[in-house]
Amino acid sequence: MKEFNVIEDFFKAKSIQRKDVIIGIGDDGAVTRIPQGQALVTTTDTLLSGVHFLADTPPHAIAQKAIAVNLSDLAAMGAEPAWISLSLSLPTIDTDWLEAFSNGLQESAIYYSVQLIGGDTVQGPLSITITAQGFVPFEQALTRSKAKPGDSVYVTGTLGDAGLGLHIAQKKHVLDDLTHQSFLLNRLNYPTPRLLVGTSLRRIASSCIDISDGLVSDIKHILKASQCGATIHVDKLPMSRALKESVAYSQAIDYSLSAGDDYELLFTVSEEQKGYLETTLANANVHATYIGHLTGNVGKLELRLADKPYEYNAKGYEHF
Ligand code: ADP
Ligand code: MG
Repeated sequence: MKEFNVIEDFFKAKSIQRKDVIIGIGDDGAVTRIPQGQALVTTTDTLLSGVHFLADTPPHAIAQKAIAVNLSDLAAMGAEPAWISLSLSLPTIDTDWLEAFSNGLQESAIYYSVQLIGGDTVQGPLSITITAQGFVPFEQALTRSKAKPGDSVYVTGTLGDAGLGLHIAQKKHVLDDLTHQSFLLNRLNYPTPRLLVGTSLRRIASSCIDISDGLVSDIKHILKASQCGATIHVDKLPMSRALKESVAYSQAIDYSLSAGDDYELLFTVSEEQKGYLETTLANANVHATYIGHLTGNVGKLELRLADKPYEYNAKGYEHF
């Protein structure tokens, strides 16, 4: 099968049609329309076989995760997603694989109302690069750099699930409870981008980031960009029942602090905005957990458990 057919049959045929796309797949470039008063947010993430997913991960999950990790970055910017582009490197043309992958892509595209508007297809090691674009009203993008000492720190969802999920997938950890096992594997393979939280936090959060490499690693980006420190109470970290019931408490804390791939949002809110935050989250029917506050101790992350310093050495995932 030639490249042309791969694109036509698996990607163009399954792409949804948004009104703001003037020219989608099929020409030398896509042509799109940005709504008045909105700024365009663009982000790219690559998933490389053996690095970001295990070689035996179902192609349906790979496609959905590739979209989710990109939409998670848009969520962290407070943006609403619109379009994606796909750069695909494939070792061979495996039509079963392409069928399952493009179905996964299509399901997510429909769910999030994002249109696949173009891409590139090459032969090489299995690798998926998605570029996602979305909109945020002018001057309302959430960033890493506007947090201040005294701001409260929150996270969405639960932490550490994908980390334990990875160890289960790698057979480094064996669980008897199959319900917990499938929950944790789903958290690894099908992360949820917190888009509604992200857009709800516009004009409320002083900073925001998505947790892709682990809480400790990622909060440091905010501390650096905003020139702050932080005190985090590890006994406040939100954990799933599946995580808590599957490993010792100290291990659950380690997963929550350092494991990557959760794609929850971490954000900060000033004292004045806290009331507004509570009503906004309640109205949107979403939940976030208070885990600590920012300090003036620039670059310093202090972890505390039951009001005593908590010793911890592990780091988040680093590629180099
Ligand atoms: P060109 O040679 O002009 O760069 P290509 O032959 O690579 O164009 O692609 C033809 C069309 O198909 C373009 O519109 C491109 O964006 C689209 N396309 C190529 N690969 C993919 C893909 N994996 N997913 C979606 N669209 C793709
Ligand atoms: Mg061309």
